[in-house]
Amino acid sequence: MNFALVTGGSRGLGAAICKRLASQGLGIIINYHSNETAAQEVAETIRDKGGVADLLPFDVSNEQSVDSALGKWEEAHPSDRITVLVNNAGIREDSLMIFMQAEQWHKVISTTLDGFFYVTRRVLKGMLTKRHGRIINIASLSGLKGLPGQANYSAAKAALIGATKALAQEVAPRKVTVNAVAPGFIRSDMTKDLDEDSLKKTVPLGRFGEAEEVAALVAFLASDDSAYITGETISINGGLL
Ligand code: NAP
Repeated sequence: MNFALVTGGSRGLGAAICKRLASQGLGIIINYHSNETAAQEVAETIRDKGGVADLLPFDVSNEQSVDSALGKWEEAHPSDRITVLVNNAGIREDSLMIFMQAEQWHKVISTTLDGFFYVTRRVLKGMLTKRHGRIINIASLSGLKGLPGQANYSAAKAALIGATKALAQEVAPRKVTVNAVAPGFIRSDMTKDLDEDSLKKTVPLGRFGEAEEVAALVAFLASDDSAYITGETISINGGLL
């Protein structure tokens, strides 16, 4: 069976992406860090609809955990393969630069960027061997335009977009595509502390986006229909430039 690995699949965008990709017939590997209850709920929703879902907890920013968890999954699934990887796990630790602690800087960069590197490198080999794969990196509007209070997050997401472009060129000869999605304000745990009523006035479409809307875009990029798109960053932000 073909599987999609979704990092940070327990909540928010990742959970919606897991459910959407499952509805398209992919088995789903739901990665999460610590929130097992939420991950279990996503798995149950998928299984209730006849889909296949495995839970695979690991910290994306820890090389050993990534290699060990994925190694075990591969051993237990000799005839299955990961054809879609969604690098979605991410955190925010906002602070004006002048007050930002080194730990806030490193934690955000590490979760997004080291996470992308460790997980993608581990999964890439199988895709290159089979000459097929879809890698989708969840970046952010913050990585395209930079947002005050988010020097760490903007840097991490901008770097992720750079890595997307570089890797896309490396693996295109093997028919593996690599694209990024750059959401604006999407309703999730990550944005629940924001002042939605005032911020939505800055969005031309006048509202925050829904996780399911991002999932629909990711599903397109994961499908055969997107075979000629690679190295691209697609914004989904209600017109917020
Ligand atoms: P969220 O609701 O806070 O969920 C974050 C997810 O990432 C959770 O599943 C969490 O797992 C997982 N995670 C965090 N650190 C991890 C680690 N070290 N290893 C493995 N998993 C980890 O966030 P979200 O809003 O859905 O955001 C998802 C992605 O979209 C992020 O990359 C974010 O930067 C990006 N994004 C979001 C928005 C937005 O408006 N929401 C906008 C632009 C970009 P646990 O449940 O175990 O904690």
